[in-house]
Amino acid sequence: MSETELLLRELFKSLPVQRLFFDFRLDSLSTFNAGGPADVLFLPESNQEIQTAVGICQKNEIPVQVLGRGSNILISDRGIRGLTIYLGRNFTKISQAGNIIKAQSGASLAALNAMAAKSNLSGLEFCTGIPGSVGGAILMNASSYDGETKNVVFSSRYLSAEGEIKTLSLNEHQFGYRTSVYNNLPSVILEAEYKLKPGKRLEIYGKIQEFQIKRRNSQPIDKQSAGSAFKRPPGNYASKLIADAGLKGYRAGNAGVSAKHAGFIINYGGATASEINKVFEYVHNVVRDKFDVNLEPEVKWIGEWSEEEIQWKSS
Ligand SMILES: Cc1cc2nc3c(=O)[nH]c(=O)nc-3n(C[C@H](O)[C@H](O)[C@H](O)COP(=O)(O)OP(=O)(O)OC[C@H]3O[C@@H](n4cnc5c(N)ncnc54)[C@H](O)[C@@H]3O)c2cc1C
Repeated sequence: MSETELLLRELFKSLPVQRLFFDFRLDSLSTFNAGGPADVLFLPESNQEIQTAVGICQKNEIPVQVLGRGSNILISDRGIRGLTIYLGRNFTKISQAGNIIKAQSGASLAALNAMAAKSNLSGLEFCTGIPGSVGGAILMNASSYDGETKNVVFSSRYLSAEGEIKTLSLNEHQFGYRTSVYNNLPSVILEAEYKLKPGKRLEIYGKIQEFQIKRRNSQPIDKQSAGSAFKRPPGNYASKLIADAGLKGYRAGNAGVSAKHAGFIINYGGATASEINKVFEYVHNVVRDKFDVNLEPEVKWIGEWSEEEIQWKSS
């Protein structure tokens, strides 16, 4: 019996079968709309289910990959071995009490933002147009315009590598530019609490509208991408360097650099993850050769990539 069949058999015994999938193509669960299959995909509903699934994998030494809403990842065409836990579907409950909003980690930032606005709470407007989840935003310290995740989150809970549920207070998150302690902590972020400020409804909705328009005018939001491809290098902007290198609108088959915003790498339809990776590599190398700047990807490479394919990231 293969490792996958063994894993499935164990998982089927303990978890709801209607939310377990075998050899499931993941392209539709990533905003790049590319990538191969998960050996096993699970859509959990509760902390308990996640704990059980991770426990089974640990016992059998099977790798676990967590996905939020897939808006900051490039999944290999060969897919993901072992168990993939996708949180953006069934792990999305949000509740509000006073100026505190509590959310399961798969909840969308859009739903969070909408709940806050409806309750006249301010602080989450910056999330407008970021298509990620609570967990992904905490791991990346997602930010935009006038706000940052670290300014509104005050605690989060996670499942540790030892299988325990633990809580982090604000300072323990070690938030930085596109990073937090979770980047180096093998864990599943389970839920978070946000502390917001009472605000004026017209001002909150006004800001949301302003940010929507700004995004629409400056970013290719109608195209498949993972947002900003590269992090901002010190004292510069990735998009400026890419444009100055003459790569705005560069295209290789069905993938390329947006002609609207040079910071975005786009799947124009049908591009494989490998083709998208090649565009990243080309852009990285041209900018390095022209300006002696090594752009660091903001996007995360997930699944089975070979050393050769992603060697450029460390060159
Ligand atoms: C059009 C567009 C615009 C964007 N604009 C912005 C922007 O303005 N600002 C910004 O910061 N980002 C932006 N992004 C990027 C992205 O939306 C954010 O980084 C978002 O926070 C990622 O969340 P996610 O749930 O999609 O994470 P995923 O892409 O699913 O995962 C990202 C990483 O987090 C890990 N992860 C996710 N959830 C968990 C969890 N619960 N526990 C443990 N690990 C987890 C994954 O393993 C992976 O390593 C944009 C993306 C797009 C497509």
